[in-house]
Amino acid sequence: MKNDALIECLRAGGARGRAAEDAALRERTALQGQRPWAIVICCSDSRVIPERIFDAKLGELFVIRVAGNVLDRHQLGSVEYAAAHLHCPLVLVLGHTGCGAVGAALAGESGGFIGYITDEIREAIGEERDPLRACEKNVLHAVERLKAEFAAHPEAGGAEIAGAVYDILTGELRFLE
Ligand SMILES: [Zn+2]
Repeated sequence: MKNDALIECLRAGGARGRAAEDAALRERTALQGQRPWAIVICCSDSRVIPERIFDAKLGELFVIRVAGNVLDRHQLGSVEYAAAHLHCPLVLVLGHTGCGAVGAALAGESGGFIGYITDEIREAIGEERDPLRACEKNVLHAVERLKAEFAAHPEAGGAEIAGAVYDILTGELRFLE
């Protein structure tokens, strides 16, 4: 395989990760089930890692990652699973500064599979041209969609919904009202 060295990196990282993880907690969550207290919908960006941002352990966060933290049917299904079946009481939509997906939408990029994402972001941001404000609007758009879906489908769970933006430079988190 062309990427043997990278596969080896994954193998070695997997072994280090397993050794570093709390084995008792891993066994407890594996055997007794997960009880996450927050659902986090965030970008796939490699700098935005919810478990690190929130210093969370195994079993605490139910994370849905998709470029541009957009919301569509698969994400809604994941939210419903965690809210209605795992009784997770909180959903956080987490945007971030320097988001490539938001930048691509602002640049008018479309087409390809990426178009599924940029079209959704463009709908969220409208005429907004400021990257930070566009990021906030994209988060708030998902928050409003979730609120509307929960209101229309009570069986999908009644979790509280919040939005926030993570700054990839400073590591700061700002909740949106
Ligand atoms: Zn992003």
